[in-house]
Amino acid sequence: MEDKNEPNIGRCTKKQPGRHFSILTCMDARLDPAKYAGLSEGDAHFIRNAGGKASDDAIRSLVISYKLLGTREWFVIHHTNCGMETFTDDIMRNLLGSSLKTASIDANDWHDSGQGSGSAEGNYIDWLTIKDQETSVREDVTRIKSHPLVPSDIPVYGYIYDVKSGKLIEVSI
Ligand SMILES: [Zn+2]
Repeated sequence: MEDKNEPNIGRCTKKQPGRHFSILTCMDARLDPAKYAGLSEGDAHFIRNAGGKASDDAIRSLVISYKLLGTREWFVIHHTNCGMETFTDDIMRNLLGSSLKTASIDANDWHDSGQGSGSAEGNYIDWLTIKDQETSVREDVTRIKSHPLVPSDIPVYGYIYDVKSGKLIEVSI
């Protein structure tokens, strides 16, 4: 039987992305960043976390992507209808303090089942929630651009992906 995976393995041996792009975006399962950015396999690095935020770890990946793997342009892409807009640090901390079970959301708020014991460890984490997408993109691009490990000649662009229209909207920084 023919191994369908074989061509992909061959292509993956080249570690430098073909288009020299890195894209920092949200981990939301509904998003296919390669598709909405019009890229093919091997074109770009995709760094994903909750919200597509410029956390220390996201910056670690971006720095590796240029320093060792030669990317030359970076994109921060957040999106409309993001789950990170539905809670605050306080809400997350209270939910985790109540229990470690999966919480639920209704039209008004998040609710915890309260079954089992929770933990106060959530109080020590900045959950990097999002109040306003445009402000969030602007802050993240600014943080990346002004980071001491990021060279000034790498362009960093900010976008919001509109999940309804499928359009990418540039955010002026
Ligand atoms: Zn999201």
